[in-house]
Amino acid sequence: MAPERTVIGVDIGGTKVAAALVRGRLPEPGARSRAEVETPEIIDRFTMLTDATSAEACLRGVEACIADLEHGSGRVEGIGVGVASMVDFAGGRVVESVNLPLTDLPLRDHLERRFGVPVVIDNDATAAGIGEHLYGAGVGTSDMLMLTLGTGVGGGIISGGRPLRGASGAAAEIGHIIMDVNGPKCPANCPNHGCLEAYVAGPAMGAAARVAAELEPDSALGRALAAGRTIDSRLLTHLAVEGDVGAIAVLERAGEYLGAGLVTLSNIFDPELIVIGGGAAAAGELLFAPARRVLAARALPPARDRVRVVPAALGPDAGFVGAAALALSELFPGDATA
Ligand SMILES: [Zn+2]
Repeated sequence: MAPERTVIGVDIGGTKVAAALVRGRLPEPGARSRAEVETPEIIDRFTMLTDATSAEACLRGVEACIADLEHGSGRVEGIGVGVASMVDFAGGRVVESVNLPLTDLPLRDHLERRFGVPVVIDNDATAAGIGEHLYGAGVGTSDMLMLTLGTGVGGGIISGGRPLRGASGAAAEIGHIIMDVNGPKCPANCPNHGCLEAYVAGPAMGAAARVAAELEPDSALGRALAAGRTIDSRLLTHLAVEGDVGAIAVLERAGEYLGAGLVTLSNIFDPELIVIGGGAAAAGELLFAPARRVLAARALPPARDRVRVVPAALGPDAGFVGAAALALSELFPGDATA
């Protein structure tokens, strides 16, 4: 059995920095289901709003989170960081960010100097994918994709049991696969048009809901607009779950775009499992059912007949559990065979 270790997992997102002090061990190789793995224990947690005014302010927040958790624990063995950025994994650098003021930053070395323990950094969705693969919905799979629907669309790819990072560590930008070459300009810091992110990220679904509200003033969405409420993906999900037909239709269209994206991914990666998480996926089956329908109708056999689409299992803790899983798997690789 792999030794138990105490690590800190940090999830740096555009809205908040969420960190946790975690005690856990790598699962036994060959574990086939969640029941066979020990979910890491969260000893303490700390969350703060991301200060995106400057790189220094953002870093101060991250350091404050880690320092708070480290204080009193006495024996942190490593730190894993998932950051909503393009990451040079081998070099430990943040290359470029969309929603954070972090560019060309040697984050790993900076945190190692500051805290005196080994640090590993990776893209946040890749870290979330590692978490789901080791402890969540993906236990027992060897080929799994993770999509996180939030402010953007993040992606993580597990191929042959290992995270796929590409030649420069920037692989798995699933949010930027093309849905329509002549589609809308990608909302992110991306030169492309018609990216998946332009259809199924939270802001895109919120924008589609606003259009529907204007077209149908008598719908629940239309009445919410008339009442001056902010029409965003959160309200859209709320109204759809309550049964509003207009809101459900907006989510169905988004789900169909999501499914079309999954067709491309299934054809390329032949995953056995696609895990979908993130705040903008809170509508669950209202989004997943149309996605599965398009996937089954349009992807190539045999991959389409095998792949399952499921919600993330680690819930709101997925970010920092993923970062902790990143630390356990990358900083102590010998544990896997211990
Ligand atoms: Zn894009």
